[in-house]
Amino acid sequence: MKAKKSLGQNFLQDDGVIHNIVKIINPKSTEKLIEIGPGHGAITRHLQSSGAALQLIELDHDLIPILQQQFDCHENVEIHHTDALKLKLEGGPFKVVGNLPYNISSPLLISMLYQSEQIEQMIFMLQKEVVQRICASPGTKLFGRLSVMLQHRFDCTAHLSIPPEAFNPRPKVDSQIIQLVTKKKPTKVDLPVLERLVKQSFAMRRKTIRNNLKQLVSIEHLEAVGIDPSQRAETISLSQFEQLALAVQLGATA
Ligand code: SAM
Repeated sequence: MKAKKSLGQNFLQDDGVIHNIVKIINPKSTEKLIEIGPGHGAITRHLQSSGAALQLIELDHDLIPILQQQFDCHENVEIHHTDALKLKLEGGPFKVVGNLPYNISSPLLISMLYQSEQIEQMIFMLQKEVVQRICASPGTKLFGRLSVMLQHRFDCTAHLSIPPEAFNPRPKVDSQIIQLVTKKKPTKVDLPVLERLVKQSFAMRRKTIRNNLKQLVSIEHLEAVGIDPSQRAETISLSQFEQLALAVQLGATA
């Protein structure tokens, strides 16, 4: 079957890499797993054999019979022919895993972020640059919207880098495995408020935070959380973004 570029199909063909991903996922019979984009089942076989309750989310209708042939006979596997971007998680907590189609990775991560109360952790193969952006620290060029939003709710760890040769067809870029473990501590920060604030803060990376947030936050509130209004967004810490979001929620706007 020809791989569909529009569905980000780069199938894993390296057993060593598959073994490494499964080792990080560490599936257990007591767990509820969701695999996004199982493809031909390269990772799925190892998840199924753990005995975990496994839900497969695959959008390509041509792959559904291939998955049914392999997994319909296993009681612990459910196959869903649907779009992962439309998933509404219920009955968690889940481990959500997958070698993601790179064209939907950012919106999917944001969608999962909004459902993090249903998620225990996520283990994904992503484009290496996206993993580096998610795990970036303040003060670096890669620190941005994805870093703040995902680090707010998850402890993020970058694992192995994977070269294009591990896939068929080969992607043009390197890949990397990332693990995002949901933070236990409940947060009072309202996600849409944080998202709006972060989006606006990074709208023009070369501008100062004061200029980017002119409509949203006063100079006094920037200073109250230890931000110099002449700083750029990429130098502001996660905790400062969270404190600013709380101030905006309390109506302390510019
Ligand atoms: N897991 C397989 C592997 O590692 O060989 C396939 C990975 S491939 C990178 C991505 C998979 O996600 C493909 O099977 C593709 O059809 C599926 N996919 C693409 N867009 C999707 C979506 N919106 N929802 C669910 N699955 C999707």
